[in-house]
Amino acid sequence: MKQIPLPYFDERNAKIDMIVVHAVAHSFKDAVDGFKSHEVSPHYIIDEKGKIYQCVADDKRAWHAGVSFWRGQENLNHNSIGIELCSESFGQKKYPFSQISALIRLCQHLKRKYHIKKERILAHSDIAPTRKADPGKAFPWAYFAKHGLGVWYDVKNTQKVNLKDEKTLLGDIGYDISNFNAAKWAFIRHFMGKYVPDDTIKNLEEKPYPDKINIPQDEFLKVLKAVWFEIQK
Ligand SMILES: [Zn+2]
Repeated sequence: MKQIPLPYFDERNAKIDMIVVHAVAHSFKDAVDGFKSHEVSPHYIIDEKGKIYQCVADDKRAWHAGVSFWRGQENLNHNSIGIELCSESFGQKKYPFSQISALIRLCQHLKRKYHIKKERILAHSDIAPTRKADPGKAFPWAYFAKHGLGVWYDVKNTQKVNLKDEKTLLGDIGYDISNFNAAKWAFIRHFMGKYVPDDTIKNLEEKPYPDKINIPQDEFLKVLKAVWFEIQK
């Protein structure tokens, strides 16, 4: 693995138990320049050909997640590893197979090494739904889950869940529901990507969720229950 050290890190105050998948809307070189000018850093970058670069050692706290929340916990840089995928469409067009294969290899290695639970491999948009849209609707979460990474769902399990309140379901899964629309849209982007329309990168970066969400409500509730069921297992 190539090293491309970035100086933006400090000490962790917690054990590693999460992986955050990101995307950056640039080629590798521009992505690195961007990280330098904004003083941010992932632990790893994977370019579109599937080449992996390490920027910060795993045992240091890299600056990738920003203001973040999951299951009652904040400041997730302390306990997570951040991986950036170069994606010029900002995750709106299919990710190259070689890039996803490299990510799967890296995540499986990290998951084993740090005993990370599969449900704690998340999108940046999941942990910062008001601010972030990455790695985007085209990220192949279903395929990823086939490799033991992240969770996916079976809609058949919907009937096993009696809870009907969307906020409780989303909150139990882990989302910060203080901005309900943002949390709901982050869930849709992750689990129901086909309902997310294309947008400009500028819009995705500036306001990653719509004010009014227009998708079939019964379908949403079905998927929400099915995902909730997976998390409880
Ligand atoms: Zn990100």
